[in-house]
Amino acid sequence: MSHHDERTFVMAKPDAVQRGLTGEIVTRLEERGLKLVGAKFMQIDQKLAEQHYGEHADKPFFDELVEFITSGPVMAMVWQGADATRQVRQMMGATDPADAAPGTIRGDYGLDLGQNIIHGSDHEDEGANEREIELFFDEDELVEYERSDEPWVYEDE
Ligand code: GDP
Ligand code: MG
Repeated sequence: MSHHDERTFVMAKPDAVQRGLTGEIVTRLEERGLKLVGAKFMQIDQKLAEQHYGEHADKPFFDELVEFITSGPVMAMVWQGADATRQVRQMMGATDPADAAPGTIRGDYGLDLGQNIIHGSDHEDEGANEREIELFFDEDELVEYERSDEPWVYEDE
């Protein structure tokens, strides 16, 4: 795997889907040069929600979080590219949209901590990206292909 094959898990949360922001999220990541390698429009059930947010099981907001993420359809995605996990986190902005910089996805579209538009794997949590990808996707649901503009995104391509 070359350095630009890092994969990360991203989700347009139920608020993004309801507000018609799924395409905007895809567009931003796509235009950055990241490559979409997997996508699933789905409704998350209780069990999957509790697994996905397991690290927050002891937090006071856990029940609210699970209720929200199961409240409507989401678009689960896998994006690939150089330093993809950290780069997506930068594009998402701070967890609380009230603190997220303008120009970031949460900073441009959100106002509420509980409804903050987008999920992306935590780059500070080693292996979180691969764990989350595995939770939502079978390996054969991920597609390997070249994007025609890759030589124009990566100098060494
Ligand atoms: P993220 O990685 O930036 O999404 O943030 P965390 O992993 O810390 O938290 C997961 C999600 O839980 C966040 O995206 C928020 O939607 C939600 N969340 C975090 N903290 C709070 C809180 O204090 N109250 C509520 N209602 N939701 C929270
Ligand atoms: Mg997190």
